[in-house]
Amino acid sequence: MDGFRYFEGVATLAMDENACVGCGMCAAVCPHAVMALQNGKARIADKDECMECGACAGNCPTGAVSVTPGVGCAAYIIQTWIRGKNIPLDAKCC
Ligand code: SF4
Ligand code: SF4
Repeated sequence: MDGFRYFEGVATLAMDENACVGCGMCAAVCPHAVMALQNGKARIADKDECMECGACAGNCPTGAVSVTPGVGCAAYIIQTWIRGKNIPLDAKCC
């Protein structure tokens, strides 16, 4: 999926730098290199690359990073392609 970007400015990815302990798990598990470590803290390097898979939040030991599957969710987009019609935005796809 190199070069594939999602809708701009819709990803729900957020992080609390104060809660980050710099373990690097979010950066290690992110499939799109959205998260990066800088000066011992994680930062969001490219929010619009986020596919809202939830891997970073699921592996963060302190809850410093959060994300909610939504319109930027890759699975949602793929399902709409396959079904050829819109599915509800609140459909659980990830
Ligand atoms: S939700 Fe997935 S794609 Fe987005 S930053 Fe976290 S691990 Fe990366
Ligand atoms: S997984 Fe959480 S605590 Fe670890 S670097 Fe990422 S945001 Fe910081």
